Amino acid sequence: MLKALTQVPRVLLSLATRRRASSAATRGRTLADQVAVITGSTKGIGFSIAQRLAQDGAHVVISSRNQQNVDRAVAELRKEGLSVTGTVCHVGKAEDQHKLVTTALEHCGAVDFLVCVAGVNPLVGSTLGSSEQVWDKVLNVNVKAPALLLGQLLPYMEKREGSSVVLVSSVGVYSPHAKLGVYNVSKTALLGLTKTLAAELAPKNIRVNCLVPGVIETDFSQVVRASSISCPCPTALYGVQRLGRPEDCAGIVSFLCSPDASYITGENIVVAGYSPHL
Ligand code: NAP
Repeated sequence: MLKALTQVPRVLLSLATRRRASSAATRGRTLADQVAVITGSTKGIGFSIAQRLAQDGAHVVISSRNQQNVDRAVAELRKEGLSVTGTVCHVGKAEDQHKLVTTALEHCGAVDFLVCVAGVNPLVGSTLGSSEQVWDKVLNVNVKAPALLLGQLLPYMEKREGSSVVLVSSVGVYSPHAKLGVYNVSKTALLGLTKTLAAELAPKNIRVNCLVPGVIETDFSQVVRASSISCPCPTALYGVQRLGRPEDCAGIVSFLCSPDASYITGENIVVAGYSPHL
């Protein structure tokens, strides 16, 4: 069925039309004629990445769990004249992943970039006291889902020139907080996944890199910022003296997807106001 969808010429025509319509609003064309699928992209870091990739010329497929959020994000970006489509995708659900792949192929006929932003942290508390349910949820959404989704997209991405994947970890992996243990373990696993997939996919000319954000001002970090958890990260001591903003994370992802990064793979790039890793 997916194969059939890639052969629908009307889809490519409509994409070309939409791209022409959005070109006036784009700041550059480094990603022109390319298609980006982004999970967890209706607000926060994912939304900023979606906006930036679309401004840089890509057609972007937005997604998250909630239909209203998807509709709102798509409408906001289309208002800017950007070329975006959206669909509901809870990354932990196989049927939603399939729908995301189908939507991308139906609307765009191809996929060049996968940016896996969706992540969860259902618990601020003891690592060893975490239930099996918490472990399963965090590892399923944060670690397994990006790998399984990429597996579904691989046949389409390997047909393209210079495809690229960006995973999203956290600077907490370099200076872990005891109360964010399960989350930190999942984000540390993503560094390993980045290296492993980079090696596996290099022969197919698909690059895999990892964005490693610090504390970025979003709803997600609100829990940590509002709680009594003090940040052990060295940013407070040595770094840029402000919180990160979602847009601080967007340009680097656009760069990692662009031809300028064609010799960069298996890399973890910290965007945290200060980097604690060597
Ligand atoms: P955010 O502002 O809360 O946005 C999260 C986005 O992901 C929303 O669009 C949300 O929409 C979607 N989402 C949540 N769970 C999902 C799921 N299971 N499947 C699909 N979509 C899902 O969060 P953020 O701060 O941008 O965080 C994004 C990523 O950055 C996460 O992986 C997080 O671990 C990482 N990160 C954040 C920080 C920080 O300080 N903010 C630091 C380091 C790393 P719906 O509710 O509609 O699903």
